[in-house]
Amino acid sequence: MHLPSFWTTQDLSMNDERNLRIAQMLGDLFWSIDDIGHTPGKDHYHPTPYNRLAWTDQEAWLRTWFAAQMNRRGFKVSVDEAGNQWAWIGGVPTPQNRGISLGSHMDSVPDGGAFDGPLGVLSAIVAFDLLSEEGWKPECPLGIANFHDEEGGRFAIACFGSRMKMGLLTWEQAISMRDRQGLNYAQALQKFKSKLGSVKRMASHSRALGTFSDQEITDAINKSAAPEPHLDDYDADRLIAFKQSIFSHTELHIEQGCDQRNLNAPIAVAEGIWPHGRWCIVMHGEANHAGTTPMMERRNPMIAFAKLVLDVQDISKRRKVRATIGKVIVQPNGVNVIPSRITAWIDCRGQLERDVKGLMQEVRDLAKSGEFDAYPIAVHGEPDAGDLPYDCDITQESWTRSTTFPDAIRQSLVNSVAASVYGSGNRKNVRHVIPPTISSAAGHDAAILAEAGVQAGMIFVRNFSGASHTPIEFATPEDCAYGVRAYMGIIKDFSKRCIRGDNGMGAAR
Ligand SMILES: [Zn+2]
Repeated sequence: MHLPSFWTTQDLSMNDERNLRIAQMLGDLFWSIDDIGHTPGKDHYHPTPYNRLAWTDQEAWLRTWFAAQMNRRGFKVSVDEAGNQWAWIGGVPTPQNRGISLGSHMDSVPDGGAFDGPLGVLSAIVAFDLLSEEGWKPECPLGIANFHDEEGGRFAIACFGSRMKMGLLTWEQAISMRDRQGLNYAQALQKFKSKLGSVKRMASHSRALGTFSDQEITDAINKSAAPEPHLDDYDADRLIAFKQSIFSHTELHIEQGCDQRNLNAPIAVAEGIWPHGRWCIVMHGEANHAGTTPMMERRNPMIAFAKLVLDVQDISKRRKVRATIGKVIVQPNGVNVIPSRITAWIDCRGQLERDVKGLMQEVRDLAKSGEFDAYPIAVHGEPDAGDLPYDCDITQESWTRSTTFPDAIRQSLVNSVAASVYGSGNRKNVRHVIPPTISSAAGHDAAILAEAGVQAGMIFVRNFSGASHTPIEFATPEDCAYGVRAYMGIIKDFSKRCIRGDNGMGAAR
């Protein structure tokens, strides 16, 4: 048995033998991918970041690992037109023979943590393994999905794979996006081929793939390729058939706040997802010498940017939304050069759409009033038409409405988790009889599927640090074991309902 870097043997001390076994199985899987994109750290108490961005070397390893693991278990693995990996067992679902799916994503934000994403995929694998040990056989197609580029850490849009799958993003839009190096999406996909090639060369010496034969590696690499961008690929019939084929989709995810810690609830069911938008703001100025340009003659967009940061902070407090400026590009980015251009991104989410949109309306109004123009300080406040080249542009890059997960699946998840996690015999350290339902301030693939009419829902595993998108996010082995148990209950319950054609759930809108 191996332990991933983020769990210690002390973390594994628990009374429940079954939870211990589940945690060990999960620990083994986590260990096998732990060095992928992970900055080595000195010890358990100083967690170090994971960098697993879309179409990078790290993603090549993770996709190949996923395909190899699923192939070995007898799943049929494929890559869909959007780049997501699907593994099905018990048949591939059709509208006549629907299936249930589980899964999440394996990519990370820049400098992310170990759990966000992989926990939902690895837990599904362990749930399947345990059910198989019990002699359980799929009654309907069972799928495990690895959604591609959920975090949007490299290009501008989050939930790329699920959005494209559900027809909410086109290749035309996708290939216009560029990463920090200026590569567009099509170029990144093209380069991915050579990354899979290097996985193949190094696989036999790696921790992740060292136990697989050459043939298994070759098969897995074939099921990990990037899709070809097809500009005319939108196929309404294919989308309808997909929606009708999925009876239910459940995503398990580490919680990204501290509600569950406060509620003492290892597992919760998602109520809904807050509305969320991303905006890009470009502030124009004029590059000039840091020494020879008098302060009063500068057209410095950095000053405007500083005002933007403070204004956004003030507005977000007043409107009770969460707004963040976390990415900035300064051009030309020289120590002794006045910037010519600042590009910044505003991420805003909140309980109410009107407040999220309201914040951006206020930012736009301020921009119109000249607040963010890089006029020479001498004339600031008196803009005239001649100064227009120094203004700022704001564009909305994404908007996701608030999502409420469908009642039927939410209630079914509550019942299923109540029985599998909170039921008698499992109630050590658990105060509740049924899992609490909580709202999430973070977007997820399951929410994109639900928005598009699939019966999709989510369960959350408690995060003891309450922090997310950072290496300090943390779930205990015992809570993760409860997550696997929840998935097991869901697989059994939902398969039965799927076979019965239970009308309370599963009808695609
Ligand atoms: Zn995630």
